[in-house]
Amino acid sequence: MQELKGRAAIVTGASRGIGAATAQELAGHGVAVLLAARSLGEIEAVAETIRGAGGRAEAMACDVSRYADVAAMVDRCRTAFGQLDILINNAGVIDPIARLADSDPDHWDQVVDINLKGVYHGLRAAIPVMLEQGSGTIVNISSGAATSALEGWSHYCSTKAAVLSLTRCAHKEYGDQGIRVVGLSPGTVATHMQVAIKASGINPVSQLDPSVHIPPEWAARAVAWLCTEDAAEFAGTDFALKSDEGRRRVGLPT
Ligand code: NAP
Repeated sequence: MQELKGRAAIVTGASRGIGAATAQELAGHGVAVLLAARSLGEIEAVAETIRGAGGRAEAMACDVSRYADVAAMVDRCRTAFGQLDILINNAGVIDPIARLADSDPDHWDQVVDINLKGVYHGLRAAIPVMLEQGSGTIVNISSGAATSALEGWSHYCSTKAAVLSLTRCAHKEYGDQGIRVVGLSPGTVATHMQVAIKASGINPVSQLDPSVHIPPEWAARAVAWLCTEDAAEFAGTDFALKSDEGRRRVGLPT
């Protein structure tokens, strides 16, 4: 991961879970990181931990469902670090879990605003900057739900499927101009999101024993690896960490 040293990255949804672990992982490889989420106190705390370990980190409140917030986040990264090399579109929600007939149209809409439009906003704001620089990597955190159907998750499956489509479209449009856009399907990860899934009791994922989930640090390691040249062949696809082959490529236990 030597090649990551000196780069500048934004991680959305960095207040906990996969996002917080990713910010710490990238910082550990010498990347300057701008952490973004709605809870400023929590991202400030993660940024402080990174700085305490000798890394470079800043925190900024950002609601990815608002384009103005995301554009300001990209500007802040350039002001703070002079460049934007890596964007991790990680922010995402699954609540409220409900079958279609019980779902609340306003809540369903909010999930589209965060999970789908949030990723679009990141692409829209970052790509022009990366084109100007001549290079950049964007990792969209995907899910097995992008290609499968699960009861109670119509909002989540639909938005993750659409994000996979965005990954493919962005790669088609900019893959030959130095911009690498790739998805990561991490498998199940031990975060707040899995606690909410378990509490719902709705589908087979909610029945999983928590011991089968991978730690967020493994997902973070995969994100960092996807930002290296070794992972270039996966551009425009969702890289799956669930398979033994995927974990081997990242250097994680199988
Ligand atoms: P998590 O612990 O619930 O963290 C979600 C993060 O997203 C939090 O930092 C949250 O911070 C942020 N967020 C939510 N809405 C936001 C918004 N409107 N603007 C900015 N930030 C927002 O969940 P996680 O498991 O780490 O999930 C991270 C990503 O991995 C998601 O895209 C999820 O779909 C994906 N994923 C997770 C799993 C899994 O098993 N855990 C599996 C596959 C994919 P604030 O609330 O402070 O804004």
